[in-house]
Amino acid sequence: MDNSFPEIKTFFGFGCMRLPMKGTEVDIEQFKEMTDYFLENGFNYFDTAHGYIDGKSEKAIKVALTSRYPREAYLLTDKLTEPYFNKEEDIRPFFQSQLDACGVDYFDFYLMHAQNATNFEKFKKCRAYETAFKLKEEGKIRHVGLSFHDKAEVLDNILTTYPQIEIVQIQFNYLDFEDASVQSRKVYEVCRKHNKPVIVMEPVKGGTLIKLPDDAQKILDDLNSGLSNASYAIRFAASFDGIRIVLSGMSDMAQMKDNVSYMKDFKPLTDVEKAAIARVTAVYKGLDMIPCTACHYCVEENHCPMNIKIPEVFACLNMKRIFNDWNQAMYYSDIHAAAPNGKASECIGCGGCENVCPQHLEIRSLLKEVAAEFEG
Ligand code: SF4
Ligand code: SF4
Repeated sequence: MDNSFPEIKTFFGFGCMRLPMKGTEVDIEQFKEMTDYFLENGFNYFDTAHGYIDGKSEKAIKVALTSRYPREAYLLTDKLTEPYFNKEEDIRPFFQSQLDACGVDYFDFYLMHAQNATNFEKFKKCRAYETAFKLKEEGKIRHVGLSFHDKAEVLDNILTTYPQIEIVQIQFNYLDFEDASVQSRKVYEVCRKHNKPVIVMEPVKGGTLIKLPDDAQKILDDLNSGLSNASYAIRFAASFDGIRIVLSGMSDMAQMKDNVSYMKDFKPLTDVEKAAIARVTAVYKGLDMIPCTACHYCVEENHCPMNIKIPEVFACLNMKRIFNDWNQAMYYSDIHAAAPNGKASECIGCGGCENVCPQHLEIRSLLKEVAAEFEG
């Protein structure tokens, strides 16, 4: 673990990408209760981005957090995201709209969002990093960082180009640790090489490490700890040197209470627990799963002209393959029953989704597998 940024009180952060929902709206009353509980238990770090829940995350934070607590009671992170600017002059008005939406006059951390080799070129061309550093000089940002989804060498290049970056958010969990595509370990090692504290996102891989296949569940059950599956994944991530925050995208009070129970008085994984996690990883590696984290980037901002619910239909296929769950055919019908949600077979192959997928999934080809399974 890392002791830089002492204003971050603990190693656990509230990711506001998957807030509690009532239909299509954030369940504000439950979000308020979760916020109160989180702060009462000594935590103070909140993370959002404009695209989360189609702009509703920032607005909900204003209602549940920033209008109810003094500014020094919490730390708030927001991000500069690729689709919302096309030239340098676009950045400041967008940044101001984020401050207004969140109801604050500065962000504690502001991250260049979802950096990869392609995005980075645009951010450089539009002088996004330089604009953020200037906003820091003006007191509107306390610390500038980035969030990252690409190969380790790309991060090395970014941190060499912009050594002023203070903190790096990476995808880090036990399933992706040695994954050839996500490269969690290698990316983490680049952060260490450049002496950057790390924020972990996706510690439970979008929920994949919560509902486990039977063989994997038995391995954790045999530990007889009484701890949840999420506890092992979150504590795995928090156990590494240099990790400053592990974010959890909690969607209800039960998840909040579970996470708080083992992060309030954090203890790293024991050797026995580490061995069990290695065996769980081996079970997963033997399965034919789509490694979608349900981040929803591919369906936000009208990326899909056919309104295909990509993460939901991928989840259906995963559930059917892993758990042999035949109810998934019914869930699949429910997903696209309400027009205008398209079926997987209605993909027109435009590729818009693949351009923004941080997991670099071949979505068009995977949708053909979904269609063959559920529409054949
Ligand atoms: S390739 Fe298919 S799924 Fe992806 S955005 Fe285009 S229509 Fe939607
Ligand atoms: S397909 Fe990619 S962009 Fe879409 S939800 Fe899954 S991981 Fe996110």
